Amino acid sequence: MFIDTHSHLNFSPFEADIKEVISRAKETGIIAIINVGADLSTSKRAIELAQKEDLCYATVGIHPTSTNNLQDKDYQKLEDLAQKKKVVAIGEVGLDWFHNQVSRKIQKESFERQILLAERLGLPLIIHNRDANSETLAILKEKKIRKGVMHCFSGDINFAISVLSLGLYISFTGNLTYKKNESLRTVAKEIPLGKILLETDCPYLPPQPKRGKRNEPGFLLYTAEELAKIKGVSLQELGETTTKNAQDLFKLQRLPRRQKT
Ligand SMILES: [Zn+2]
Repeated sequence: MFIDTHSHLNFSPFEADIKEVISRAKETGIIAIINVGADLSTSKRAIELAQKEDLCYATVGIHPTSTNNLQDKDYQKLEDLAQKKKVVAIGEVGLDWFHNQVSRKIQKESFERQILLAERLGLPLIIHNRDANSETLAILKEKKIRKGVMHCFSGDINFAISVLSLGLYISFTGNLTYKKNESLRTVAKEIPLGKILLETDCPYLPPQPKRGKRNEPGFLLYTAEELAKIKGVSLQELGETTTKNAQDLFKLQRLPRRQKT
């Protein structure tokens, strides 16, 4: 049993065959899928899916690369959406110095504003950080953020230690399985299993055996197998622990009953 804590079934590549994608996920032992918003329209779509599909939950947020030209009324809409049923986090939000189509100043302001929203509503944060380690940490420290996850972790051990010291979780995607990513596996080995979440970030970042294809929640198992190997635990133990971690952070309601294996 596994939870895909960061998925984008709310994005257009899944429009045509979402039912099939979800049923394949169930077959591999996925018991919940958290679809993450990246702007107002994908946040809305994540909520629609959560209303229709038992397995699906939603988050709402504006990705740092989509923060240009936002007005007060847009943040108000986001706040309204954040209060819908089955919305379990604010995200993905953060800083992205890699794609620099939005100024750093605007990204920071939007990140801080969405952090305040998360605090007001008592929701955890799903944090996107690309090439902005020190600035991301500085903001999280200043705002005393304790509840959240550093999504798609690809940093080094020092960054991992800083993230853990804030009390945040660390989440791994299919990039943990990439042949050349030995350094990330070395970092994963050092992180306590009790602080790790699993995610696909689908349709992006398919695991090694599926590279070049559209990623989907059912492919989470490849990352889980890799992590079980790294940590020297059974796949079952890995599933149970990471599911408990996800449940502790996101407080998923109506989680399907545990299946006997
Ligand atoms: Zn994402």
